[in-house]
Amino acid sequence: MTWLILFAFGLAIGSFLNVIAVRYDGERFLLGEKTLGGRSHCPHCGRTLRWFELVPVASFIMLGGRCARCKVRIGFQYPVVELISGFLFAFVPYRLMAFAGASGGMSVLVAGLWVVAFEALLLMSLIDIRLGIIPDELNVFLAVLAVFLGIFTMGSLGTVNQSFAGLYAGPFGLQGIFWLNRLIAAAFGGIFFGSLIAVTRGKGMGMGDLKLAVPLGLLFGWPDILLAVAFASVIGAAAGIILVLAGRKKMKSTVPFGPFLAVGAAITFFFAAPLISWYFSLIGLR
Ligand SMILES: [Zn+2]
Repeated sequence: MTWLILFAFGLAIGSFLNVIAVRYDGERFLLGEKTLGGRSHCPHCGRTLRWFELVPVASFIMLGGRCARCKVRIGFQYPVVELISGFLFAFVPYRLMAFAGASGGMSVLVAGLWVVAFEALLLMSLIDIRLGIIPDELNVFLAVLAVFLGIFTMGSLGTVNQSFAGLYAGPFGLQGIFWLNRLIAAAFGGIFFGSLIAVTRGKGMGMGDLKLAVPLGLLFGWPDILLAVAFASVIGAAAGIILVLAGRKKMKSTVPFGPFLAVGAAITFFFAAPLISWYFSLIGLR
C-alpha cells in the first residue's frame, strides 16, 4: 500500500516536472514565475486544461493521447516521464532498503533525498534533451543535496563509504574515509570530462557535462561515479551508432550526454553489483 501511494505521488511529481521542462527557456531561473505560474494549457489551441485532463497517465490514455478540443497529438513524453517518476518514488526507497538491510537500515530522510536527487536528474535530462543545456541551478542543487545526503548517510550508516557496487568497490580503494572518497569522486568527474573537452576541443562534450559530473561524483562517491560514467558511455555510444545507422544523426552531430549520465547513475544505483558480477562470470573470472 505504501509503495502504491509513493508511486501515485511520483506520477504527480512527474507531471509537474513535464510542465517545468516544457516551459523552461534556458534563460530565466529554472523555478521562476514563467515555469511555475499559470494553469496548464494545450500548447496548440491554448485552452486551459480541466482537472480530468491533468490526471497523470490516466488522462493521456482516456483522451487517446490527444487534446480534448483541438485533437492535436500530445507527446508520449508526458506519460513516460510520469511513469519514470512514479517508479523512482517507489523503487529508489525499495533499493535503499535492500541495500542497507544488512547494516541496520536506512533513514527515511536519506531515502527521500535520494528520490529528490533522481527527480532532479530526470528534470535535467528532459531539459538537456529539449534545449541541449543543463541549468547551473540544477548542478548547484545536486551538489548541496549531495552534502546533506552525505551527512545523513553517515548518521545512519557510519563513516565508511557505502558503494552501490558492494564488495566490488574494495579493489578501487578509498573506501575508508567517507568525505575523502566523495571529494576524489567529484574531482574525477571534473578531470575526466575536463580532459575529454580539452582533447576533443569541446566538440565531444560540453561544459554542461563537466559541471554535472562534479556534483554527481559528490553524490555517488568512488568508484560509483566511475561506473556511472562507464555505463553512460556504453549506452551513449550504442545510442549514437543506432541514431547514425537510422539516419537520424550525422557522425559529427552531437547528442546531449546529460541524460546518459543520469541513466548511468541510475544503473549504478540499482544494478551495479549484479552487473559487475555478471561481467566477471562472462570473462571467466569467477
Ligand atoms: Zn488543444
